[in-house]
Amino acid sequence: MKPIANGSTIGILGGGQLGRYLVMAAKHLGYPTIVLDPDPTCPAGQVGAKLLVGAYDDPKLLQQLSERCAVVTYEFENVPTNAIQQLISSGTLVRPGPRALEVAQNRVQEKTWCRYLGIPTAPFYPVNNHDDFIQSIHNLGCPILFKTVSGGYDGKGQRLLRDMSESEAVWSDLGAGVVPLVAEGWVAFTLEVAIIVARSADGDVTYFPVVQNVHERGILDLTVAPAPVDDELRRMAEDYAGRLAHALDLVGILAVEFFVDPEGRLLVNEMAPRPHNSGHYTLEGTSLSQFEQQIRAVTGLPLAEPTLLHPTAMVNLLGHLWGDTEGALPLERALAIPGAHVYLYGKAKPRVGRKMGHITVVAATSDLAVERALQARRGVDLNEEP
Ligand code: AMP
Repeated sequence: MKPIANGSTIGILGGGQLGRYLVMAAKHLGYPTIVLDPDPTCPAGQVGAKLLVGAYDDPKLLQQLSERCAVVTYEFENVPTNAIQQLISSGTLVRPGPRALEVAQNRVQEKTWCRYLGIPTAPFYPVNNHDDFIQSIHNLGCPILFKTVSGGYDGKGQRLLRDMSESEAVWSDLGAGVVPLVAEGWVAFTLEVAIIVARSADGDVTYFPVVQNVHERGILDLTVAPAPVDDELRRMAEDYAGRLAHALDLVGILAVEFFVDPEGRLLVNEMAPRPHNSGHYTLEGTSLSQFEQQIRAVTGLPLAEPTLLHPTAMVNLLGHLWGDTEGALPLERALAIPGAHVYLYGKAKPRVGRKMGHITVVAATSDLAVERALQARRGVDLNEEP
């Protein structure tokens, strides 16, 4: 199959930071982009994409994407399925296709696919009514995590039930009985790791290095590449991610997040058929970025085998760093640190928990990269300003 010719336009649903770096990667390879996002000031709209402002399922805007784009991709998985259906039924190539998207939108489907493919997950139980809720607690025991089946991200739509006394509060807080939930057994993980797999339309797959992720209150805080895992665990992560990519008929990239449990087993937590926050480090750390690999995959260009160039650490810059101001971050101290790269996404309002930017540090060892990344973040923290 011939690749989509450079000069053709790529459509992107979603204009956040992931869309921003997709736009830039597309531009490097000679593809103009059109981004659809409800926010006229979105990060991807500031780096040279044409912007369509409106709802993701606005039929007129989708029609424009169809007419003007050779392929449409997306930067977040909660794209309305009717939007994808409209694009496909008007003959537009959507990559990754609807199967990967539907599975990633639904935590029960994700785990069911894993189970079907023989890939371990945390024990789980779908909860559609109060009987299921009580039964899940009996089956899985406390502590137990309840998550909304769809729509949750960055720890939103989740509640931990520590003991039965909290059960009715958890039940009502999550809108249970109205919104489908999944109950998950608590995993006393020793490590969280992730991998990004890319798959071409011809079925070729390549893997980015396995990274370690550290979350704070459900939000990614730190990524370390490479993860401190042995070859056997790395191969297992590749095997699981590859099986998922083939089964989902993926054309694009898929990020798979895992727990390493106390027995050293890998359990899939969740997956996303799009660039991922834990892949930001690939802008410096690997021989090509996750964003370029996504563009290569969706346009039918050959995939490259990513290699790690140097140990790398990435820390997110969340809104609380701005304190109670909306002022400019002081970058001088961070940028004075060897190997440090600062990215700001151009978001006007720094809200607590909002991803505003990130810092990547490359260094001779992972420990040094982590130490310097944390130091760089302290350097930009307005709360720590004298
Ligand atoms: P998620 O939105 O499912 O990725 O969850 C966000 C974070 O919450 C994960 O990266 C873990 O740190 C934690 N978490 C989620 N599910 C579990 C679980 N079943 N057991 C222990 N920790 C969990």
